Amino acid sequence: MTKLYAVYGASGCGRSLMPVARQQLAREADTSEIVFIDDALTGMSSVNGHRAMNYQVFLNQAADAKAVQIAIANSFVREKIANRLEADGIHLWSVIADNVVLMDQAEIAIGTALSPFVTITSNIKIGKCFHANLYSYVEHDCVIGDFVTFAPGVKCNGNIHIEDHAYIGAGAMIKQGTPDQPLVIGRGTIVGMGAVVTKSVPAGVTVVGNPARILEQK
Ligand code: UDP
Repeated sequence: MTKLYAVYGASGCGRSLMPVARQQLAREADTSEIVFIDDALTGMSSVNGHRAMNYQVFLNQAADAKAVQIAIANSFVREKIANRLEADGIHLWSVIADNVVLMDQAEIAIGTALSPFVTITSNIKIGKCFHANLYSYVEHDCVIGDFVTFAPGVKCNGNIHIEDHAYIGAGAMIKQGTPDQPLVIGRGTIVGMGAVVTKSVPAGVTVVGNPARILEQK
């Protein structure tokens, strides 16, 4: 059976995740090819030694099965592409770096990308297409929704709930909640880089600073 894997997006995120994807196949002793998909491309080209093509060209490639890691930081683009892949019967592919630490009872949905040095501790539930970039961690009893994105170095402490499409900037830290009262980051909220989040944040806002405050739109 021939299997074809792809990293969707050949910009920063995709080019950083391709080596993680390669590591994963090597670990599984799977010699299948991994290509890049990027809709900015026409015809067939090459990126960092991998064949690269747009989605239409990828669909035309012969293979018994195809699986795709959507390596694009914008969560709404990830969702749009995930829906399209699903409609076309193509599997989402999770990629996990060799040195990621996964502890007990971490339930992670399909399509995730865990970069090098990420730690996911125990009793955690994570939704579809979660991206945790370099050196991020998720501590015990967190619940993370679909299409959530962590930039590098996010410190997500225990008993935190992060709703769908939230984006947590580089080096941000979020104070732990309690089992009775988890700290909640609302749907689609953006936590600015280096922010220190000490209390729950509503949906659809941007918070910055220490302690993190809502950035008022002018
Ligand atoms: N892209 C795509 N199809 C889409 C939307 C985006 O192939 O429907 C590609 C786009 O051409 C670009 C990449 O995804 O190469 C997104 O790169 P960007 O530099 O915006 O951000 P990154 O997610 O790599 O940080």
